[in-house]
Amino acid sequence: MSQAVCILGVTGSIGQSTLKVLQQHPEQYSVFAVTAHSRIQELVQICKQYHPKIVVVPAAKVDELQQLLAQQHISGIEILSDEAGLIAVAEHPEVDVVMAAIVGAAGLLPTLAAVKAGKRVLLANKEALVMSGDIMMQAAREHGALLLPVDSEHNAIFQCLPEHYLQTERNGQPKLGVSQILLTASGGPFLNHSLEELQHVTPAQACKHPNWSMGQKISVDSATLMNKGLELIEACHLFAISEHFVTVVVHPQSIIHSMVQYVDGSTLAQMGNPDMCTPIAHALAWPQRIQTHVPPLDLFVNHQLDFQAPDTTRFPALSLARQAMQEGGLAPAILNAANEIAVAAFLQQKIRFTEIATVVEHTLNQIQNSAAESIELILQADQNARAVAQHFVLNKGS
Ligand code: NDP
Ligand code: MG
Repeated sequence: MSQAVCILGVTGSIGQSTLKVLQQHPEQYSVFAVTAHSRIQELVQICKQYHPKIVVVPAAKVDELQQLLAQQHISGIEILSDEAGLIAVAEHPEVDVVMAAIVGAAGLLPTLAAVKAGKRVLLANKEALVMSGDIMMQAAREHGALLLPVDSEHNAIFQCLPEHYLQTERNGQPKLGVSQILLTASGGPFLNHSLEELQHVTPAQACKHPNWSMGQKISVDSATLMNKGLELIEACHLFAISEHFVTVVVHPQSIIHSMVQYVDGSTLAQMGNPDMCTPIAHALAWPQRIQTHVPPLDLFVNHQLDFQAPDTTRFPALSLARQAMQEGGLAPAILNAANEIAVAAFLQQKIRFTEIATVVEHTLNQIQNSAAESIELILQADQNARAVAQHFVLNKGS
C-alpha cells in the first residue's frame, strides 16, 4: 500500500533530495503535504510536479502562493500557515511518514508533533533533538513513533549497530557487545587552515563544502565543527549512550559515514558515496531497502581513506558542544540557540568566523543552566540564549 509522506522543509537541500528518492518510487510513496518558508516559486514548481494535498507557508506568504498557483492553473491544494499549520500536517491522521527537514529550532514543535502522533519520523533536523533530547526520545517511546536518523553519520551508526539495539535499556552505557561509536567528520572546507587564516574566511568560502552540497546553516556548522558537536549530542540521545563513548574521527574523504566498535575487536563501518539520498532511502524503507540513483562506491577510484583527530584549538565549537552534553539540562538548547544567532551574524558579515564559538561560549557562561523538564522551559532557554547572543553580537568589542 502507498505511504503518505509529509516533507517539512521541502524547498531545502534535504527536502529536494527526499523528492528525488520518492520520485523513483511512485507506487510506494505519495507526497501528501509539503512546507516552505521563503522559496515560494520553488514551492509552486513542487506543487505542479507532485500535487500535494496540503502546503504550509508563513501567513505573510499565503497571498503570493495563491496568486502563483492560480497563474499556473493549479487547484485543489489546501493552504495552511505558520507553526499551527506545520504542526497540523506533521500530525495529520492521513500521514504515515514525516521527513523533518526544517533547519534549526523552528523545526522543534512540528517534529515533536509528528513523534507524538506516532509517525515514522525521518530526522534530519538535528537541532530539534539537540534541544529537546530526553523529551523527544521519551515521546517516541510513549507514542510508538519510529524515529529514524537521516543525518548520514547517525544513519551509518544505526546500520552498524546490532538489531534491536534501540529497544534495549537506555542507561548511557554501550550494550550488546558495543564498546564505542566512532563519529566521522569531514573536517569541512578549512580543515588545514591556520588560526590566523580562519580569522579572514568569508561566508562564501564557508558555504563551499568539499564533499556535500547542503543548506547554508549546516555548511557553516560543518566548517566550525559545531555540526559535529551537534551530532555528538544527537548520537547520545538517539543511541542512549554517554558522550564518553563517542569519539570524533576526522575523515576528509567522507566515504566512511561512521563506525561502531565492538568488544571483540571488530569495527563496523558504513560506506558510500556522499549523497544524502542514501540515508533518506534507508530511513524511508527500513527494514527494507529501496533503490536510489546513487552510484555504488568504486574503491578503485576512492582508494585513499585518511583519518586524524580533530583539532579543538582551531575548532573550539566541538569542545563547547561536548561540554554542553556533559552538563546536560538546558545547556544543549542554549548552545544551539546561540549558534543559530552567531551563524546568521557571520553570514551577514557582522562577526568573524572565529567569533562564532566566542558568541556560543559567552552565551553558555551567561545563562544559568537547569533541568530541561518541559518543552516550555526549553523554548524559554532558547529565547533567552538568542537575546544574550544577539546582544553580544551587537555590542562586541565594547
Ligand atoms: P536548507 O537551508 O537547505 O533548508 C531548510 C528548509 O527549512 C527549507 O525548506 C526552508 O524553507 C525551511 N525553513 C527555514 N526556516 C524556517 C522556519 N523558520 N520555519 C519553517 N521552515 C523553515 O537546509 P538543509 O536541507 O541543508 O538542512 C535541513 C536540516 O537537515 C538541518 O537541520 C540540517 O542540519 C539537517 N541536515 C542536512 C544535511 C544536508 O546534507 N543538507 C545533512 C544532515 C542533516 P525555504 O527554503 O522555503 O526558506
Ligand atoms: Mg551529518
